[in-house]
Amino acid sequence: MKNFSEWFHNILEEAEIIDSRYPIKGMSVWLPRGFQIRKNMLNTLEEMLNKEHEEVLFPMLIPQSDLAKEAIYVKGFEDEVYWVTKGGANELNEKLALRPTSETSIYPMFALWVRSHMDLPIKVYQTVSTFRYETKHTRPLIRVREITTFNETHTVHATAEEAEEQMKTGIQIYSDLFDKLAVPYTISQRPEWDKFPGSEYTIAFDMIMPDGKTLQIGTVHNLGTTFAKTFDITYEDEQSEHQYVYQTTYGLSDRVIAAVIAAHGDEKGLVLPPIVAPEEVMIVPIIFKENQDDVLAFTDALEAKLQDAGIRTKQDKRDIRPGKKYYEWENKGVPLRVEVGPRDLENKKIVLNRRDTGEKIFMDYNEDTVVDDIQAVLDQITEDLKVKSNKFQEDKTHYVESLKAVSKTINKKGGIVTFNWCGDTECGKQIEEEFNIDILGTQPQVEVEGECIHCGKEAKHRALVSKTY
Ligand code: ZN
Repeated sequence: MKNFSEWFHNILEEAEIIDSRYPIKGMSVWLPRGFQIRKNMLNTLEEMLNKEHEEVLFPMLIPQSDLAKEAIYVKGFEDEVYWVTKGGANELNEKLALRPTSETSIYPMFALWVRSHMDLPIKVYQTVSTFRYETKHTRPLIRVREITTFNETHTVHATAEEAEEQMKTGIQIYSDLFDKLAVPYTISQRPEWDKFPGSEYTIAFDMIMPDGKTLQIGTVHNLGTTFAKTFDITYEDEQSEHQYVYQTTYGLSDRVIAAVIAAHGDEKGLVLPPIVAPEEVMIVPIIFKENQDDVLAFTDALEAKLQDAGIRTKQDKRDIRPGKKYYEWENKGVPLRVEVGPRDLENKKIVLNRRDTGEKIFMDYNEDTVVDDIQAVLDQITEDLKVKSNKFQEDKTHYVESLKAVSKTINKKGGIVTFNWCGDTECGKQIEEEFNIDILGTQPQVEVEGECIHCGKEAKHRALVSKTY
């Protein structure tokens, strides 16, 4: 698409996902269709989290004294905090923050909950709104002042090894989620200056958007004992000694929905993977006066059959031209459209239209196998979307061997550029400044040989850079 930014803005409105006309900058309304997509995404995520985590819900307001406790941490957010200062007409004794993120609301409670090693591990998550007074240009779902879908997990462990093991779990869950959504990603370890303040290290997932810039869509942090020391979270070990706990946290947001929309959409509008689509199948009966009853009897039965099998299915019986219906459901991204007319009934066929490829499938209708037959097409759509979007991410990732090639490649092709790097903060910051790009991080699994592309010292990492959202 020619202008992604404009396309993205328009599709949120056309496909009835978000209404961004709410009278506070950076805050939008989830419309029913958008909310359904959001809910389907969260259901998919929570089903995986629930295998070993439990859902909780903490208050939205945080006392100033708790927020201020972590000096390193607050530094990242202090200019962006919303404050509640009054209750009715009364000035509050203590200012209360609308959570910019939840560590300072959750960890004082962890300090109360953890007494002995018997209380560990704790693995909880919540889905909440968080608030940031963004001063940069806001953009629905991507840069907002109220993040309405912040799903955050917090875990507490007795040992560093267990916390490290938990990091792998967090990374695996997010990888699985993005795979199910057919959203491509590159995993890297953020550089020291861009890790979560107070953490040991941060692992991040980045997707390359159609305009070549990357969008961070999920992060997993090893917090070590920093917050345990700040909030005094300790347990008594078997020798009755007090030990600090080890913590991890991982989170993702509305940006995942933005990623789904951006990864698959085309000039005709939204393309949704079946797993999040409000309707996986839209049945359009082709009705003429004389055979209306036969066709509708058939499509009603088909709709009920698919719904009973758990396939989200609707039927469009409105008295408007079929072409108008096709246009509308294509625009809204319904993965599969099923057309049934009188001639199809005679021939015992149904006509399937794939939104992702535009392919028309004339399928033999068999009452006993139709559910499986349609499910197989839906599964194929997911698989094909995944292959296509992963290929895009791969094609837009380039390894280069000279500094000149870094800026040339970024400016001409966009995407992610990788190269050998020494890993020094000063050198990294010079690269960022010189080329007006961000170092996303390093790939821990890649071994390198040779010199740093910038300073010539021994290279220790394969670095990733891009323009970012
Ligand atoms: Zn260097």
